[in-house]
Amino acid sequence: MPELPEVETVRRGLQPVMEGQRIARVETRRDGLRFPFQKDFVARLEGRMVSGLGRRAKYLMADMESGDVLLMHLGMSGSFRVTLPEGESTPGDFHYPRSENRTHDHVVFHMASGAMISFNDPRRFGYMKIVPRLEMDAEPLLRGLGPEPLGNEFDAAMLAQSCAGKKTSLKAALLDQRVVAGLGNIYVCEALFRSHLSPKREASTLASRSGAATDHAKRLVGSIHTVLNAAIKAGGSSLRDHRQTDGELGYFQHSFLVYDREGESCKTPKCRGTVKRFTQNGRSTFWCQTCQK
Ligand SMILES: [Zn+2]
Repeated sequence: MPELPEVETVRRGLQPVMEGQRIARVETRRDGLRFPFQKDFVARLEGRMVSGLGRRAKYLMADMESGDVLLMHLGMSGSFRVTLPEGESTPGDFHYPRSENRTHDHVVFHMASGAMISFNDPRRFGYMKIVPRLEMDAEPLLRGLGPEPLGNEFDAAMLAQSCAGKKTSLKAALLDQRVVAGLGNIYVCEALFRSHLSPKREASTLASRSGAATDHAKRLVGSIHTVLNAAIKAGGSSLRDHRQTDGELGYFQHSFLVYDREGESCKTPKCRGTVKRFTQNGRSTFWCQTCQK
């Protein structure tokens, strides 16, 4: 499943072909994806200029000059392919499987520039929705979302405040989109490992009795920033290499320290532990019980 860094990489890959460009024609090749397309979906996009391409959590947001915003979510298996006269690229080539099967191209944006942007999604958990910019604050898909993990407002004080008194595990708290938006299983495992905190630790321990951020909270926020930035950087390198890529270059999975490493030795210097896996809230947690406390 694409996580935040992948979505950010996709955004950066699509930016040059979408921003400041007009959508000439839109093809929807079925009635909908996870949800049906709005009846006026095509009409509200065709002939319109995209003034900016942003991201909120795992949503891509194409700002239209008309005042609409096109929200796009990759779901479990969604990806975009950009076809230009000089060749094709697939922004966001990461560790999640991507389909090459063109029968799964469900939405195609034909840009006035000649670029073709195809949305491919075999499992169809992705979705697209157009929302007037003025109604964004009330949009149910976005309303409950907490702060962006790489945004200025997300810091140790804020994380401590959200976790104060929470009896749930740290892992569950970090996956809660109201606490922090867009963090998924992989990067939560990586961030907890790098900050040497147990995924089973009670979330409330990020706050002192007075509600202030503990050192744990500070360490954790630092690790969240580190893993996300490293992953976005790795995605960026895969973007740069896409012309000659064999599909392996720039994969961030090569630098996972704990995720998907069950049974292998812990990468914390001087730790002699072994990476273990267990199921937590229905998801696989990878951790080292020797150095994550
Ligand atoms: Zn260890």
